[in-house]
Amino acid sequence: MWPPDERAEMTKALVAVGERPDDMTLYVNILLLRKDKEVILVDAGFGPHKNQNWGWLADAMDTIGIEFKDVTHALLSHSHIDHIGGLASGGKILFPNAAVHVLKEEVDFWRGKEPDFSKSHRTDDIKQMIKNVRGSFDTLQPNLVIHKDGDQILDGAITIIAAPGHTDGHAIFRIKSESESLLHVSDLAHNHVLMLENPNWFIDFDHNPDAAIATRKKVFAEIAATKERAFGFHLPWPGLGVVAPNGRKGYQWIPASHRWDF
Ligand SMILES: [Zn+2]
Repeated sequence: MWPPDERAEMTKALVAVGERPDDMTLYVNILLLRKDKEVILVDAGFGPHKNQNWGWLADAMDTIGIEFKDVTHALLSHSHIDHIGGLASGGKILFPNAAVHVLKEEVDFWRGKEPDFSKSHRTDDIKQMIKNVRGSFDTLQPNLVIHKDGDQILDGAITIIAAPGHTDGHAIFRIKSESESLLHVSDLAHNHVLMLENPNWFIDFDHNPDAAIATRKKVFAEIAATKERAFGFHLPWPGLGVVAPNGRKGYQWIPASHRWDF
């Protein structure tokens, strides 16, 4: 629980941009890319979890004429249910033809003898979560491609970058197309106000808050300076924007907007 003065700061920051502090939305944006004949999915949502299901993802893909079997690559930023749940569940792989790319640290963490949650503020059932993730990795095993920080795939179109803290093997992805570049920041931010206004704020789901904060500060400083476009899994739909300094030691999320350039 945050101390009252910090909570007041959070409320102030949310109200300032018209967000309700008592009822925040956790957005889920799944990025789908095409490169020549390749179809690349970046994380896969919850899957058949609680009242979520795969239907909406199938519907969204249907409207652009892509079937699950057409996906050739799936990038996994980390293994929380809202990212891995749609890749494998109940012993079934949803994208059977997709190579599933993941950092070694992520797989090692969950498959380790005793995954270390000593720094985490999580209060949910960690034992059950570990069991579920291990089960997902077992199901995905034939499709897994294990990477190290800085590895590139698809002729350098995508770079897999270690961004530890949220989980040990949490990854972000730099996507290049000709002269353009987009940084998928995965779960560096779960809210477009709080974690940018003050990058020292964290979410209980961060396995190692100090490491998550350090990573967040490093990446936000970098893209605020370069003005590289960003995509956030949990930022307001459609998740595209840029990070800019807010003049108060923090940052501001500026969503992309359609505009005419004269
Ligand atoms: Zn997430």
